[in-house]
Amino acid sequence: MLQLFIPLGALGIIYRQFKYTLADMDLVFKLLTKEPEIQNIDQAKELEVGKASISFEDVHFAYQADREILKGVSFTVPAGQTVAVVGHSGAGKSTLARLLFRFYDVSAGKITVDDQNIHDVTQDSLRKAIGIVPQDTVLFNDTIRYNIQYGNLDASETEVKEAAALAQIETFIESLPDGWDTKVGERGLKLSGGEKQRVAIARAILKRPDILVFDEATSSLDSSTEQAIQQTLKQVSTTTTTMVVAHRLSTIIDADQILVMDGGKIIERGSHSELMQKKGEYRRMWDLQQEAAEES
Ligand code: ADP
Ligand code: MG
Repeated sequence: MLQLFIPLGALGIIYRQFKYTLADMDLVFKLLTKEPEIQNIDQAKELEVGKASISFEDVHFAYQADREILKGVSFTVPAGQTVAVVGHSGAGKSTLARLLFRFYDVSAGKITVDDQNIHDVTQDSLRKAIGIVPQDTVLFNDTIRYNIQYGNLDASETEVKEAAALAQIETFIESLPDGWDTKVGERGLKLSGGEKQRVAIARAILKRPDILVFDEATSSLDSSTEQAIQQTLKQVSTTTTTMVVAHRLSTIIDADQILVMDGGKIIERGSHSELMQKKGEYRRMWDLQQEAAEES
């Protein structure tokens, strides 16, 4: 299946390439799939997932050669634990999630899953192990059933419905005139940001991966739906190694470890209570969000 993940910058490049080298469909295809440089190494092995511990070791990364985005990031997520990543917009949080999924390769350092460098394993085996709910979900031009089922094409009808119910989207789907057969995506019904997030969450629940990554996965939901889904996510992730990128700090207070990122570095780390006592950046962000919540 084509990876439907197109960086905005690439659209401009694609357009220019079309203008000048219309014949070079291979290049256009590579740009569209956004993975010209990500290849399996020769004799790449399958990732062997045990309990799925994750480790970033002095990871450096740049999207463009002259602008380093991650400047030496190290952390470990023991098997089954949850790490939360917080920080201002542009700090590099989503980049961590993208590197773990190996949309890009690191420029220095390494990322391992159960002590295997993700650079040296097949992309298929890595991506099979990870369920990701990205910041912006792209839907396939297909039925809403397929869009959820995509998480696990072998799942039964009952399992698909259960996943949709857990993601708080089942009632919505069944209220549509064509129900589960409703076509969605660019050429079908346009779902709202929150609906798309719930489809992506259902997809990830259905996949039952060894590793879950939520990148501001509930940011477009109203707060009562968010709370309901947070409960579900807590349940599905109890034994799963989880990385959560969060905007609202109140959603991650139970995380085993919280990383505060700024300018491509981890500037603070610890549990919620440790970071509150530290009275640093995390505490400052917490107090600001509390004030904002009281005012509204
Ligand atoms: P966060 O998720 O913390 O808001 P990101 O990881 O998305 O931050 O982005 C970190 C930095 O990398 C930002 O300065 C952003 O502009 C830049 N960036 C993100 N994606 C790309 C990309 N595809 N090409 C170039 N720069 C990017
Ligand atoms: Mg982000």
